Amino acid sequence: MIIAVASGKGGTGKTTVAVSLALALSGQPAFLDCDVEEPNAALFLRPAITRREEVGILIPEVDFERCTACGRCAQVCAYHAIAVAGGNVVVFPALCHGCGSCALNCPERAIREVLHVTGVIEQGKARAIAFAQGIMNVGEAMAVPIIRQLKRWAIPEDAADRAVILDAPPGTACPVVETMRGADIVLLVTEPTPFGLHDLRLAVEVARDELGLPVAVVINRDGIGDRGVEAYCAAEGIPVLMRIPFDRRIAEAYSDGVPLLEALPEYREQFARLYRQIQQTGTDVL
Ligand code: SF4
Ligand code: SF4
Repeated sequence: MIIAVASGKGGTGKTTVAVSLALALSGQPAFLDCDVEEPNAALFLRPAITRREEVGILIPEVDFERCTACGRCAQVCAYHAIAVAGGNVVVFPALCHGCGSCALNCPERAIREVLHVTGVIEQGKARAIAFAQGIMNVGEAMAVPIIRQLKRWAIPEDAADRAVILDAPPGTACPVVETMRGADIVLLVTEPTPFGLHDLRLAVEVARDELGLPVAVVINRDGIGDRGVEAYCAAEGIPVLMRIPFDRRIAEAYSDGVPLLEALPEYREQFARLYRQIQQTGTDVL
């Protein structure tokens, strides 16, 4: 079962929940850190990395011996990543999506595609957990291709029979959508405040309304705010599967890079139960 752990905004405790879930499971769960701009699950899981490969996108390279500066490539580029002016062709790698349309449409066959490295994918083991993470290079803007490749490489073929946890980036932009796509359920981690509710609504819109995925909620720092999140979930029929009380010891463990289940082992059974409830929720909706 593929579980995407997401949140409408950063700082809700999403990684704490995703890591705790992985550590609470028996068997051999897979954990993918898809927050490629700021992956930090490895700080808690401390994996031994055994494979590291560069990834990127294919961007155009122009052969100026052949190019007639006809401008066709710029016309077909939907992302304004290639421009033709004054007889020159200029490529903007940061805008390029690697779609290949310019090369396909060049009448002179003056464009070849070359790999532009945007990051790396690392794989390894963290105890029994098959760990993988994407890391985007500083200055790059395209997280989606890295996430797509990470999922292609690291989601096991027998994903239907084991737990696969995807730690999504925060927010609701394209990298989050790419992470959620293909998941069996999206677990949304929020906090019981007006800000938390606002961002939870946005996340539900993406996961449930746009992607058509089952969603469930974990309320973190329960007790600090109001009842708005509970009321919203009740009205929308979204199950709240777990409430983690506000506890200074959890924040201290996080800032020390200590997994919650190591700092407070009494949570192990709660997260094992959370997984069983996730399985039940996914099955009920399917
Ligand atoms: S389409 Fe080909 S020939 Fe025309 S400007 Fe672009 S690279 Fe040059
Ligand atoms: S590969 Fe696609 S996005 Fe990149 S420059 Fe060519 S047409 Fe534009």
